[in-house]
Amino acid sequence: MTGSLVIAGLGPGAEAMVTPEVALALDRASDVIGYIPYVSRVPPREGLRLHPSDNRVELDRAVHALELAASGRRVVVVSSGDPGVFAMASAVFEAVEQGPSHWRDLDIRVLPGITAMLAAAAAAGAPLGHDFCAINLSDNLKPFDLVLKRVRLALEADFAMAFYNPRSQSRPHQFASVLDLLQAHAGPERLVIFARAVSTPDQDIRVVRLREALPEMADMRTLVIVGSSATRQVGRFVYTPRRA
Ligand code: SAH
Repeated sequence: MTGSLVIAGLGPGAEAMVTPEVALALDRASDVIGYIPYVSRVPPREGLRLHPSDNRVELDRAVHALELAASGRRVVVVSSGDPGVFAMASAVFEAVEQGPSHWRDLDIRVLPGITAMLAAAAAAGAPLGHDFCAINLSDNLKPFDLVLKRVRLALEADFAMAFYNPRSQSRPHQFASVLDLLQAHAGPERLVIFARAVSTPDQDIRVVRLREALPEMADMRTLVIVGSSATRQVGRFVYTPRRA
């Protein structure tokens, strides 16, 4: 029996935002592996083994998935949004790099999903319509100084910015430092979008000026978009014009 490993993105939350190829891969899976809330989005069925795990063990989870695929199982590793954006796909390739050489010959595919940034941008209008960057504000895997440096340089380059993992209970102060940095360099009228739980029943899209932005407006279910100097409002929409 030949096993396979699919690393799939479930999108931001809504069933309608799961791509047909991801739905098909889930239908054909023998095993689904991922962080508990993501695995719980996969409906159980006869013959399907679900392996929910804690988020802190990404590399262990990747190794487990590779071992199951090598033993002949049809494994799907699930991430929210897109699996290549601050998620499991890189962890799987890191495990392949460090693992036995036969893992390099496994049938591995990455299936894209709608990442939070794109779902949030669409809900607000078109704030990422010109050049932009995405920055993970969590310092779990990198020093926070590097986060601040990237934000500073992105401001200098006048990118619109999408911030993932803006704020958690274990690190409530860092997003406040990022807001201070923005306030020092971008001016009080810069547009900021707090997009929470996009595409779920809890969706909340809040558009404010930088002078009104508060750290408490973000949590771990929020994607923050900071406009460039050209980002503007038209009615209830926010957009960035395509010419700089
Ligand atoms: N792979 C995921 C991102 C994982 S990092 C993706 O491509 O979307 C987790 C962060 O993504 C959260 O802290 C939040 O900033 C963002 N996020 C994920 N789903 C979201 C949603 N439905 N609404 C708003 N932000 C979301």
